[in-house]
Amino acid sequence: MATLIDGKELAKSIREKLKQEITDLAQKYPGFRPHLAIVQVGLREDSTVYVKQKERAANEIGIEITLHKKDSTISQNELLDAVNELNNNPSVHGLLVQLPLPEHIDEKVITEAVDPKKDVDGFHVYNIGNLAKRHNKPMFLPCTPKGVIEMLNFIGVEIAGRRAVVVGRSDIVGLPMFMLLSRADATVTLCHSKTQNLPEILKTADILVVAIGQPEFIKGEWIKPGAVVIDVGTNAIEDDTRVSGVRWVGDVDFVSASNVASYISPVPGGVGPMTVAMLLDNTVQSAKRFWSID
Ligand code: NDP
Repeated sequence: MATLIDGKELAKSIREKLKQEITDLAQKYPGFRPHLAIVQVGLREDSTVYVKQKERAANEIGIEITLHKKDSTISQNELLDAVNELNNNPSVHGLLVQLPLPEHIDEKVITEAVDPKKDVDGFHVYNIGNLAKRHNKPMFLPCTPKGVIEMLNFIGVEIAGRRAVVVGRSDIVGLPMFMLLSRADATVTLCHSKTQNLPEILKTADILVVAIGQPEFIKGEWIKPGAVVIDVGTNAIEDDTRVSGVRWVGDVDFVSASNVASYISPVPGGVGPMTVAMLLDNTVQSAKRFWSID
């Protein structure tokens, strides 16, 4: 049976370290307090849940958080004005616009409007572009892939020289995951919905990261025995036995995969809490940069 990678515990220990760091820095530099601003457009239930998680986690460790709620009818120009105002506010160190946005707003335009120096989601083309260039240093790494690397480092798996397969090529997870694993000297294959013979490719993976949004799609028999499996997928499926009526599952069939993998991350309690912890980490790093603290 595979060993569980407990993202919840790991994220907790990261949050505790950050809390201590903020306390220490506030003593050394009076007035030091990282500040994260979140812009939420509309009232999507899932977005509200994610924003609340971020708010709670930030508050707990001493990050100031301001939530800027906008009506779903806001125009793109009005939203751009709101983003610019936060860009120009020197007390704000981290700024993110919760995605997805209503259809009449171009997400690309809004993402690119965030000041790269405050882009704690790591989605701005400046940061993604610098991640893609081998010897450049982005100011921020996207939180989910950054969290996955933390998880791999935590279990002590050797990444350099190993074969890694990433399934999913989104801008926010799959593609930057590919780039980060490549930077860590893995030999990486990036798969997507048009990939042929996926099971054959998966069999080569010492490290497998899946982010496709397809509940329990990846079967244990496709996985190389002893592989490390990181399941980013977060899918709600109907379950009448639950009070909520839904159950959360990943993109990997957990039961069959657990019989083959050496390590596996669960859903929930795997990558999700790490993503939030990395957002806090990016915010603290940003505040330190604004304060010119090494
Ligand atoms: P996107 O929908 O943006 O991208 C999905 C990717 O998966 C695409 O590249 C798509 O291929 C590929 N894909 C879809 N179906 C298949 C298939 N059958 N075989 C191979 N590839 C396939 O998703 P995200 O990256 O935003 O999210 C992926 C999952 O991760 C979701 O469940 C999401 O909820 C979860 N997530 C979890 C986070 C966390 O913190 N735990 C954070 C972010 C996301 P193509 O490019 O060809 O269309």
